[in-house]
Amino acid sequence: AQQLQFIKDSIETIPDYPKEGILFRDITTLLDNPAAYQATIDLLVEHYQGQGITKVVGTEARGFLFGAPVALRLGVGFVPVRKKGKLPRETLSETYDLEYGTDTLEIHKDSITDKDKVLMVDDLLATGGTIEATARLIRRLGGTVTEAAFIICLPDLGGIERLEKQGVHSFTLVDFP
Ligand code: 5GP
Repeated sequence: AQQLQFIKDSIETIPDYPKEGILFRDITTLLDNPAAYQATIDLLVEHYQGQGITKVVGTEARGFLFGAPVALRLGVGFVPVRKKGKLPRETLSETYDLEYGTDTLEIHKDSITDKDKVLMVDDLLATGGTIEATARLIRRLGGTVTEAAFIICLPDLGGIERLEKQGVHSFTLVDFP
């Protein structure tokens, strides 16, 4: 609990970014605090060690910053899910709804197989739309995905319940109600 408070205190809150009325939770201050960054990765690794995870998928861009170190520590591959047009080989795409408009995520077609048990990692869970689209990509490639990890949860936006309905269980470290 002390560690979680230390991690929470390392996250800055920026009012009116990127738009008026939004409280942006800025994880760059966590990344720049090596003790907080280390504690964050340690907690995620402890939680998933020995669970048979074979791949970690991180979503662009802040999911890379937490997913890649967790993959290394678990001794499994890291797979990036990127915004449209960034991956060089054959991809699958999923388009999902944002507050205004849509966005498209892509994954390399050969990055996951039907033997994989995948952990998804992102920095923050809000509505769950980003991770739901990521889970669809993994499942279209035959992968099994029932776990998602986040540093921050905004519990009022219903992401945990939305992902649970898709058979994805969330593990989150700090809440900002
Ligand atoms: P969702 O798809 O769950 O609604 O939104 C989560 C996505 O939005 C994540 O990829 C996350 O990086 C980004 N996001 C939304 N609000 C914030 C915020 O306040 N801070 C950070 N760091 N990311 C945010």
